[in-house]
Amino acid sequence: MKKIILASNNKHKVEEFKQMLTDYEILTMEEVGYYDDIVEDGETFLDNAIIKAKAVTKFLNEKGINATVVADDSGLCVNALGGAPGVHSARYAGDHNTEANRQKLLDELKDKQDRSAYFVTVLVEMQNDYSYNYYEGKTFGHITKEVLGNTGFAYDPLFYSDELGKTFGQASPEQKNSVSHRARAIQKLKEKRC
Ligand code: IMP
Repeated sequence: MKKIILASNNKHKVEEFKQMLTDYEILTMEEVGYYDDIVEDGETFLDNAIIKAKAVTKFLNEKGINATVVADDSGLCVNALGGAPGVHSARYAGDHNTEANRQKLLDELKDKQDRSAYFVTVLVEMQNDYSYNYYEGKTFGHITKEVLGNTGFAYDPLFYSDELGKTFGQASPEQKNSVSHRARAIQKLKEKRC
C-alpha cells in the first residue's frame, strides 16, 4: 500500500483523510516521530501548508526516509468579515479553543445581514527534493445564529452547507465528506496521483 505522511496531528483531519484516502497508508507526524511544534506564520493557506510540508520533509530526509508528505492548511472565510477568521481559524479567539472561537464568530456577526461563508483547504503534496504540487478545495454556505448539531469539529455546527441543507455539525461523516472543502482538495490529489 502506498504511504503518505500527513503533516498534521489534528485527529479530526486525520480521520477525514483516512476515510477518503483508503488506498493509502496514512501516517501522522507523531507516528513518524515528529513532535516539534510548527510555527504557521504564513499569510496564506498555501504558505502555511508549504511551511508544514517542508518541516516534515526535512525531518524525513534527516532520517533517510523516502516518502511523500501531504500537508493540509484550511480554514473558514466569512465574507462580511473580510475573509476572517481565514488563516487564523484555529486561533481566532484562543488557540484551538473551540468554544471561544465559535462565540467570537457569533459575536462578530451579530449585526451582519450577510452571513455567507466558505471553508477552504489547500493541500501540498511534497516529495523528498521539496518539489510540490498543491490542490485547493472549497465548499460554500453560511454561518448559523447558534450551534446546530454535534458531529464534526471546530466550526462545523455553525456552518450551514448550501449543498447538504444542514450544518456540518448535523451531517454524518459520509455526508460531510461528499461536499467538504477537504474532500474536494483530496479528490484533486487522487486524480493527479492515479
Ligand atoms: P490548521 O490546522 O492550521 O489548518 O487550522 C485549521 C482550522 O480551521 C481548524 O482548527 C478549524 O478551526 C478550522 N477548520 C478547518 N477545516 C474545518 C472543518 O472541516 N470543520 C470545522 N473547522 C475547520
